[in-house]
Amino acid sequence: MSRVWNFSAGPAALPEEVLRQAAEEMLDWHGAGMGVMEMSHRGKEFMSIAEAAEADLRELLAVPASYRILFMQGGAIAENAIIPMNLLGDRKVADYVVTGSWSQKSQKEARRYAGVNIAATSEAGGFTSVPAMRDWQLSDDPAYVFTCTNETIGGVEYPFEPDLAQIGRAEVPVVADMSSHILSRVIDVSKYGLIFGGAQKNIGPAGLTICIVREDLLGRAMPLCPSAFDYKTVAEAGSMYNTPPTYAIYIAGLVFQWLKRQGGVAAMEARNIAKARLLYDYLDGSGFYENRVDPACRSRMNVPFFLKDESLNDAFLSGAKDAGLVQLKGHKSVGGMRASIYNAMPIEGVAALVDYMKAFAARHG
Ligand code: PMP
Repeated sequence: MSRVWNFSAGPAALPEEVLRQAAEEMLDWHGAGMGVMEMSHRGKEFMSIAEAAEADLRELLAVPASYRILFMQGGAIAENAIIPMNLLGDRKVADYVVTGSWSQKSQKEARRYAGVNIAATSEAGGFTSVPAMRDWQLSDDPAYVFTCTNETIGGVEYPFEPDLAQIGRAEVPVVADMSSHILSRVIDVSKYGLIFGGAQKNIGPAGLTICIVREDLLGRAMPLCPSAFDYKTVAEAGSMYNTPPTYAIYIAGLVFQWLKRQGGVAAMEARNIAKARLLYDYLDGSGFYENRVDPACRSRMNVPFFLKDESLNDAFLSGAKDAGLVQLKGHKSVGGMRASIYNAMPIEGVAALVDYMKAFAARHG
C-alpha cells in the first residue's frame, strides 16, 4: 500500500491513525460482535460513541455549557436555508458579510426565507480580503450577522474573530460557517450565536454537519421549517430525532480523540501556522508562483496559487501526480492550483509539495 499526499479541499485526507483504527474495528467494535455501521443509533454502544464524540468536541473547542452541539445532516449548503428558517424569528432581515463564493451562495439562499442586507462585501477587490469590522453596515435590527470565516475556494480567512461588541452591537448573534477551518485554530465560542460546518474537511467523512448553537436561539423556527432541521427539536432529541449519520459521527469521534492526543486545538494551530508559513514564504519568494490574497487574510487551510506562466499548468499537475502529490487543481471558478492543508496534513506533506514546486520551477524557470 502506498498513500499519496492528498491536497483535496474536501472530502479531504484523514489522519492515518484514525483510518487504521477504524479498519481494525470495522467488523467488531470493542467486542460488540458487530461494526459501528451495523449498530442501532439508540443502542448503548452507539450512544456511548456519540456521547464521547460530543464531549470531546466540547472539550476541544471549550464550548460553554449554554451552547448545544448538534450532529445534523444536509451539509453547509442545506444550512444556508436551515439557518434563516431557524433564526429569523420575528425579525425581517438578516445581515450577510460576503467574502467569497461560499458566503455569496449563503446570502442568495437566505433570500428565499428572509430579507437580506449585505453588511459588507469584498467583491470589488475580487474577494481577496475580509472587510474590517468598522466598515460593516449592519441593519437596525438584524436577526443575525452571517460570516464565512474561511472561504475554501478563495483561500481567504478572517484574521480576527467577528466580535460585534467591538462595534457596539453585541446583541446581534454572529453566525459563522467554519466548514473549512473548524478545529484548526483557537476560537472563543462565546463570541458566536451559531457555528456550523460540514465535517468532510477538518473533521471526518461527508454526511455529518456540526452545529454549535447558543441555547437562547433555539425555539424560533418558522412553522414551515422541517422538524428534522428545527434546532430545538434536534437539540431536545440529543441529535437523535432522526437517524443521525452514525458512521460519520464515529469517525469524527476518532478524529477528536486524535486531536486530543496531538495536544488539542492550540497545538494544531501552532502546526498549521508553521505549515502555512512554509508554503506562503516559498510562493512569495519564488518569482515563479504567486498567491493573490491580501497577506493579512490568507487562509492557513486553503492555499490557492498560480504559475506565472499558466501554459505550464498541465505539466505541473501531471508531474505532481507522478511525485505522489494529488488534488492540486484549483477550483474551476478561480483556476490555477489550490493546496488544502487541513489538520490531517503533516508538515512533511507540505515540505514534499514545496520540494516538488522548487524542482519544477528550476526545470522550467
Ligand atoms: N461552506 C464552505 C466554507 C465550504 O467549504 C463548503 C464545501 N466546500 C460548503 C459551504 C458547502 O458544503 P456542503 O457541500 O457540505 O453542503
